Amino acid sequence: MRIVASDLMSLYLPSMCASRVIYRFRGEEEAESTEFDKVLQELGRRHELQHLATLGPFVDLSEIPQEERFERTLAAIDSGAAAIYQPAFRITTMLDGVECEIVGYPDFLIFDGDGYIIRDSKMARRIDAEHHPETVLQVGLYGYLFEQTCGRLPKAIQVHCGTNAIVDIPYDGGVSALAELRRIVALRETQDDLYEPVGWSKCGGCGFKEKCWEAAEQSNDVALVPDIDQNLAIALHGIGVNSISQLLQSFDISSLGEFKRQVGKRVQKVGKKAERILQFAASMESKQELVLAVPAIPSFPNYVMFDLEGMPPYLDETDKIYLWGTRVFGSTAGEYMPAVAGFGSDGDKEGWFEFLQNADSIFKSYGDNIPFVHWAPYEKTHISQYVQRYGDANGVAAHVKANLLDLLTVARNSIVLPLPSFSLKVVEKYIGGFKRTQATYGGEWSIAQFILATETSDEQLRAQIMEQILKYNDEDLEATWAVFEWMRGKKPSIPSA
Ligand code: SF4
Repeated sequence: MRIVASDLMSLYLPSMCASRVIYRFRGEEEAESTEFDKVLQELGRRHELQHLATLGPFVDLSEIPQEERFERTLAAIDSGAAAIYQPAFRITTMLDGVECEIVGYPDFLIFDGDGYIIRDSKMARRIDAEHHPETVLQVGLYGYLFEQTCGRLPKAIQVHCGTNAIVDIPYDGGVSALAELRRIVALRETQDDLYEPVGWSKCGGCGFKEKCWEAAEQSNDVALVPDIDQNLAIALHGIGVNSISQLLQSFDISSLGEFKRQVGKRVQKVGKKAERILQFAASMESKQELVLAVPAIPSFPNYVMFDLEGMPPYLDETDKIYLWGTRVFGSTAGEYMPAVAGFGSDGDKEGWFEFLQNADSIFKSYGDNIPFVHWAPYEKTHISQYVQRYGDANGVAAHVKANLLDLLTVARNSIVLPLPSFSLKVVEKYIGGFKRTQATYGGEWSIAQFILATETSDEQLRAQIMEQILKYNDEDLEATWAVFEWMRGKKPSIPSA
């Protein structure tokens, strides 16, 4: 069996999942990389090349065919090369009775006085066993392959991370990495299908999402119920409660509350979550929504829909918001008011101050009480972050913050929907009547587009890309408004017995 060090990534990324290892090994069809994935790969490649440029003279093995590269690596090491780019190591060993060829391609080998440092380049900004176990395991495996093929210890194993810092990884002789490889071997050898619960965040970004969700929907898997976590789904499967119907037949609020599952190292009762879980299960089983209470939406003639687009912290030093979108809906609707971060060095600050100006002009036109309606805590968190970063001299940010209305919280407190997620995109589809005009859209799509816009020197192309991003953000505001209006009309249902 051939195992490549990067196979560890199959187990861990984009989320820990054993099924992904099996599907990849069996060659099952996987969705193509998204534009966002491609942008990330390109950024990763550049990050690596920037570091390479700092290493001085090096032996470049990146274009050497794989089979030849193993020998060429050893030859470069024997000749004492100062740095080697994209070396390769290979060993054959037995892992739990299976003969395995283990292969690894670190990014760099760097000679340091009396030995070689193994170093890999990664975009992640925080590298340790808690935040990126897969990276720690991968470089640990490189260390082991080096030791086995060269007959000596690596001088150090390191990661060049997203901040350009060099992080030392403690070398454990490959023990942890080999334990994970044994797990991968066992998974590949298994003949049976393994039970891996689906999960909205777990499966987002996984190339097998369509396959797994189709199967889960066909079997009416308990894991589809939003408040059922992964461990609970596994524990329920363990007692033969596989489907939502079986869950409803087997438990009432009290017995589900007493049911135990693993949470970290402890075993915990489901407790108070039981009622919510059974409400969702009943809603999904009957395909009927359940309105628990009138949605707590204060009455005003107008409301600002408010939505931010931001770069994830691993892609930008400062967790940057590149678009602050606002638009007033209601009896006196207003125009879409985007505040976009500029492309220069002060762009982030400019975006923030433009947003404050927009918000101030909304207060002046619509009064001090107008609510700023958003979906989920992202907007609130980032307003606080930007106040810390650039201040709030006129108190406009504090005013916006005081007027925030998180529609997701209102929805979760009042309505149970027959849906596996309360994501805005899922809810807007459910309520119907609202149509987006763009074939491709989404938070990750928008990030990828913004990176392309930042990088191009073609002003016309940049303007076209920005127009698409703004359209997407504006349609998010329209979607929030559509969901808002739909919720305002809701009256409590009489729960069925
Ligand atoms: S879609 Fe979900 S369950 Fe399926 S392989 Fe991916 S992460 Fe695992």
